[in-house]
Amino acid sequence: MMSNSKPNMLEAALDYAEQGFKVIPLCCPNRDGKCGCGWKHKEKEIGKAPRTVHGLSDASSDPDQIKEWWKQCPKANIGILTNRRLVLDFDLEHDGFESMATLEAKYGPLPRTRVHRTGGDGEHYIYRNPGSTDIRPAVKLGGYDGVDLRANGSYIVAPPSLHKSGNRYEILDDAETAPAPEWLMKMAIEKKPASDEEKGAIRALNGVPEGERDVDIYKYACRLFGKGLGKNEVIHLVLLAASRCTPPFPEKEALDKVESAAKYEKSNKQSEPPEIISAKALSDMDLPPLKSALPGMIVEGLTIITAKPKAGKGWWVL
Ligand SMILES: [Zn+2]
Repeated sequence: MMSNSKPNMLEAALDYAEQGFKVIPLCCPNRDGKCGCGWKHKEKEIGKAPRTVHGLSDASSDPDQIKEWWKQCPKANIGILTNRRLVLDFDLEHDGFESMATLEAKYGPLPRTRVHRTGGDGEHYIYRNPGSTDIRPAVKLGGYDGVDLRANGSYIVAPPSLHKSGNRYEILDDAETAPAPEWLMKMAIEKKPASDEEKGAIRALNGVPEGERDVDIYKYACRLFGKGLGKNEVIHLVLLAASRCTPPFPEKEALDKVESAAKYEKSNKQSEPPEIISAKALSDMDLPPLKSALPGMIVEGLTIITAKPKAGKGWWVL
């Protein structure tokens, strides 16, 4: 690994700008894997969170701006916007490489293109969008585990940035970025058009400051359960909202929030008092006809048998 060498981050950032990427300075981890950029980033944001006031919307390819940013923080990690690109993000930890094998078995080898190794056991295959279709990011692209898509409106951490594990992001293949293969374009486009619920999910976390996203994801999940949505739907919408955060909210933590919200919902339901119905409302209700267990004497459900004491009710029932 290159973790001991000290690359020149400014030069690398300027290189990306020259290649046409919009660049953004990110948090950089210190030697202990903690936030080393001075912004006191939380665990999941270390080395990944934009270090500008307006996040991704500050991204720039202007050399002067880039020099200014890296003058403020020479070790800052480098984020590059993935607008007009399709980046396949394979995550080893979540079976991304099994998914890659499945995809290659189905569609043939991934076309050669620029590939980065992430500092956290993953690979980024960077393709360019051959047309002008607005491709948006996706989690579990095409339903494949460990395969995310970064596209318009998202970014990746780029080499030689330092991961909090101590590994550096590296260029595995510096080939020219190839146009995205047809099957990939199709898969990226064919995501169902967003339903109203999905549009809500996309809006749900817009403008929520990074430190408050935990709470908001949890509240959002509670709201969806409250609407009576099933767990799978809630998971889908919460992951969608999480992937649209800047930086994206980690999937595993989002799923934890869904679990807690599900538990809360369940305990809430159990403590609700039973509905009270008036005699008038009951007599007005359309009830199903009674079914007889013993015609004229006993109905299915509840029958009350009355008689004088010692008349033999018990024997009769037996
Ligand atoms: Zn930081």
